Amino acid sequence: MKKVNIIGAGLAGSEAAYQIAEAGIPVVLYEMKPDKYSPAHKIPYFAELVCSNSLRSNLLENAVGVLKQELRYQNSLIIAVADKHQIPAGGALAVDRTEFSRTITNIINEHPLITVEHKEVKDLAKFDLENEYVLIASGPLTSDNLYKSLKNFLGEDLYFFDAVAPIIEYESIDHSRTFKASRYGKGIGEYINCPFNKEQYELFYQALLAAKTVPINELDEFNLFQGCMPIEEIARQGPNTLLFGPLKPIGLNDPTTGKEPYAVVQLRQDNQAATLYNLVGFQTRLTWSEQKRVFRMIPGLENAIFERFGVMHRNIYYNSPNNLKLGYQHKTINNLFFAGQITGVEGYVESVGSGLVAAKTLIRDYFSIQDENTTYLNPETILGGLAHYVTSAESKYFQPMNANFGLVPALTATERNQLKQKYNISEKGRRGRRLVYARRALSHYPQFHLNIS
Ligand SMILES: Cc1cc2nc3c(=O)[nH]c(=O)nc-3n(C[C@H](O)[C@H](O)[C@H](O)COP(=O)(O)OP(=O)(O)OC[C@H]3O[C@@H](n4cnc5c(N)ncnc54)[C@H](O)[C@@H]3O)c2cc1C
Repeated sequence: MKKVNIIGAGLAGSEAAYQIAEAGIPVVLYEMKPDKYSPAHKIPYFAELVCSNSLRSNLLENAVGVLKQELRYQNSLIIAVADKHQIPAGGALAVDRTEFSRTITNIINEHPLITVEHKEVKDLAKFDLENEYVLIASGPLTSDNLYKSLKNFLGEDLYFFDAVAPIIEYESIDHSRTFKASRYGKGIGEYINCPFNKEQYELFYQALLAAKTVPINELDEFNLFQGCMPIEEIARQGPNTLLFGPLKPIGLNDPTTGKEPYAVVQLRQDNQAATLYNLVGFQTRLTWSEQKRVFRMIPGLENAIFERFGVMHRNIYYNSPNNLKLGYQHKTINNLFFAGQITGVEGYVESVGSGLVAAKTLIRDYFSIQDENTTYLNPETILGGLAHYVTSAESKYFQPMNANFGLVPALTATERNQLKQKYNISEKGRRGRRLVYARRALSHYPQFHLNIS
């Protein structure tokens, strides 16, 4: 039988190794720690949480809470260990990070079908892709040697840097303060326009200049990425630069005044279901709390819910829509799989999820399983919604994505009401709507029962 190699014992690689080994397939897991550490990794254990010790919300009204529940239903190692080492954090699943990673390391090391090789994989050519499987889970901070080798092998579709504008929930926009229009009425699709008067703009501008940013500690890498300047840096070049740049009002007449506003922020549709919109030209290094504070000063966004905050950082990821099939398997190289942040999912739990799905796809390929038992790929689940997004989003604008309810097919008000009754949901408003999506996702799993909250 073919050998299975996994590169990287992070969140995705550890989950994938465990799932594949539990299916009875021997795995060789390559991990460069403790010989070599990325700039963010610090401890010798597997599945290290490089920053926050929180796996975010555990509540089902939040898509990442649903994702974790789906992973529990799929016997995820990482979530089981996180539950075991949970520490108090309100509605979030936070863990004792050392105990969490140490436990996972022990389980992987002791697994009879997993062989751990503590070495950096420098070159993909080391593997015979005709006759062995390779699952790449080396993360957003893949070592430079491997990055170069992957770049050679995969070409221009492997990105080094991530610059994303914030994405907000459509429903949270105050549409009484915005108008829909494309500049000069041209182009396909209308933008949502948030108009500023002079006074509002000046307050926003001062707040933007004063806002806290994430320090640029990888300056050389940052310099590599010159095509995209953060909004706050454009602002620092003078009070009018934004008015001639991302906030230019030209060609956008506000129907309530019949005139061009002083400045305009445009929101562009971000998903097929039109439930998410991004702030055009707002790539930023503002801290997440500052983004919330300052961008809520934009007219119409006073109560905006941020599905994803803007980031600009080193983040190696693949253009998966161009290259991967639904289960994170390469479209043309059958034995090649990807998992984790390198596929374009964003976040700890999302990385675990893609590791689990990639492993299950590999297991099916290994044993030539053809049946339809792939709940985790159903587009109404969060695991499936993420896999569909990553492998079939518009490749030209592909950006990494967190778990969110905008990834699953949208429901009409009538459909939602029917499902509210079916699933005994008494909660009203936004919470009630979210629980409908949550329970619809979970209902695809055999373990689902109605009184889950
Ligand atoms: C600085 C930073 C902070 C982040 N903070 C958060 C956060 O707070 N919350 C959140 O949800 N998400 C966060 N993320 C995003 C993401 O969730 C994490 O990066 C997550 O760890 C990704 O999981 P992964 O399994 O894809 O990669 P990783 O967990 O990074 O695992 C990759 C593993 O591969 C190993 N490796 C790399 N190259 C090689 C090689 N050539 N040979 C062998 N081994 C190799 C690494 O040592 C590592 O152990 C952050 C990302 C970064 C970069």
